[in-house]
This record gives sequence, structure tokens and C-alpha cells, in this order.
Amino acid sequence: MPSALTPFLESVHARYHRLDWVGSDPIEFVLKFKDPWDQEAVALVAAQLAYGNVKQIRRAIADWVERVERASGSPAEWVRSGVWTPAAHHALDGFVHRLHRGGEILELSRLQSRSWSTWGSIGAHLVSGLEPEDEDFGRALDALLDQWQHWYREGSGGNKPSRSLQHLLSAPAQGSCCKRWCMLIRWMGRRDDLDPGLWMAGSPLLSKLGDRSRGLAPGQLIMPLDTHVGRICRYLGLTRRKTLNWKAALEVTRSLKGVHPLDPVRYDFALARLGILDLCRNRYVEGICEKCGLFGPCRVGRPARRGRHRQAGRATVRQPS
Ligand code: SF4
Repeated sequence: MPSALTPFLESVHARYHRLDWVGSDPIEFVLKFKDPWDQEAVALVAAQLAYGNVKQIRRAIADWVERVERASGSPAEWVRSGVWTPAAHHALDGFVHRLHRGGEILELSRLQSRSWSTWGSIGAHLVSGLEPEDEDFGRALDALLDQWQHWYREGSGGNKPSRSLQHLLSAPAQGSCCKRWCMLIRWMGRRDDLDPGLWMAGSPLLSKLGDRSRGLAPGQLIMPLDTHVGRICRYLGLTRRKTLNWKAALEVTRSLKGVHPLDPVRYDFALARLGILDLCRNRYVEGICEKCGLFGPCRVGRPARRGRHRQAGRATVRQPS
């Protein structure tokens, strides 16, 4: 049964969930590749580098792709074998994206490489811990990241991950909203022009599981909450929480299941565009909010006091006639 929000969210979806806007999102780099292993290799790094402004993010991902192609021929070959070569550190020498340096991104791809050796892909690793009846992938992601922590310590003589590597490995169990993991898993757990759905049942990336019926379902995805999406979800009453943590992500997702039970994160890309493209100014702006698909249910984009005043004014004028 559609909710009162359905037509508004659908209108924003129709306008922004389109390939026309792909240049403002890291999924752009994933879609440049055709081979699913290349796509997974790029997706992990692209999602984890997705913080900061669009220009910085695009520059960092393009830099990483260029370096690994130069070193190994393709992102998949980099993950399969390139990351273990003596030249691997050299390939990412001088790579910087805000908090992160090449060494941490190399560790990330090495952990991916270990998942590939054992499961064939990160997708299969994640899905190995997911039951069809699980409401969401939270428990499976905790298990995967727990394994990665274990592998990291094993490979580094018992050392803990550095603070900035830990930032890439923060798990739902630690309370983080895991925005970048949720975004990666959204790309892989639903399928349309923008989301390749590579961890859904039947994907070659899951072949090592030996059961073609296993895979992520769109209904098990969790809304990736960044500052833009988080505040717009608050404006729509999808959560009251101010802190963007795992509980808030679950609350928003459950609210969105009231709109679209089988595909609650369907609106993520479109809602994020309102912030990323600087269309939403976080307050009512005459002429902008009226054109926004969320005008009406958005609690912030209303000319509240002026509106009441104007209505009262009109009523006063109309009364005599
Ligand atoms: S504040 Fe205005 S532009 Fe922003 S979401 Fe609300 S209606 Fe849309």
C-alpha cells in the first residue's frame, strides 16, 4: 500500500535517479568497467574514498584506478596478485585522499584479495553470513569485518589497524552508520541503470557459494546515511535522530519500508543529489523549494509563518466578497 510520501519520493527518483547524474557519484568509476571482478575491485575503493567534495573524490578514485592499471593491467589483477608484489607499495606511493594514504588503501585491497582467495569475491564472503530471512545485512557485515580485523592482525604480527585504516573497517556492531559500506552494498544489492546488483542471486561473483539461489535481496539493504541524506530524511520525518549512527540508518530504512517494502533504499541516489548538487539549501528558499519534489512533506521547506500570514491575508480579502 503506497504511503503518503510515495508520490513525492517517486517524483525525486524520476528526476535524479538517472545516468545523467552519474558524474556526481563514485558509482561512475564502477560502471566504466564490464568485468564483474574489476567492478568489485573498483567499487570497494571508490565507496571507501567517498567522503569530501565530489571533485576531490573523483580525483582520488581516478588516481587510484590509473595507478593500479599501470601496475597490474586491471583492478581485478591488482586485487588477485598485484597487491602482494614487492612493487605494490611503490604503486601507491604518494597517493593521498584526505585522511587516507596509499598504504591503507593497499591494506584494504589486500583484505579484499583474501576474501577472493577464500570466497571468490567480497560479495560471496558477505552472503556466506547472510540468511534469506535476515531483515538486513548488518549481522553479515559484522562477520565480514570481524574476519578482516582478524586477517589484518594475523598479517601484521598482531598489530591493530591504524586509526585511519580502522575508519575504513568500522562495523555496525560499533554503532557507526557505515555509510560507505551501506552505499557499496546498495550498488551490489539492487539492479537498475545505476546499481549493477553484482551480489544478487545468480551473479558470477557468488559462484563459489555453489547455490545459485543465494544472494542479497534489495529488501535487506540499509539506507546509506551521509549528512545530506540524513538531514533530508529528518525533514521528511523518517527519523528524529540527530546522530547519524547505525540505529538512525535502521530507523530510516524501516520507515522507507513503509514506502517501498521490497526496495527501501531505492531513493538514496536521488535524495543524495539534492545535497550533492546543492539544490537543497537546508531551509525554505522561495522558488527553489516549490520546484523540489519534496515540497509539501518536507518540514523545513515550507514558508511556515509567511504562509500562514499570506493565507490569513487572502482570507481577509476574500471574506467580504
Ligand atoms: S528544504 Fe526545500 S529543497 Fe530542501 S528538501 Fe525541503 S523542499 Fe526540498
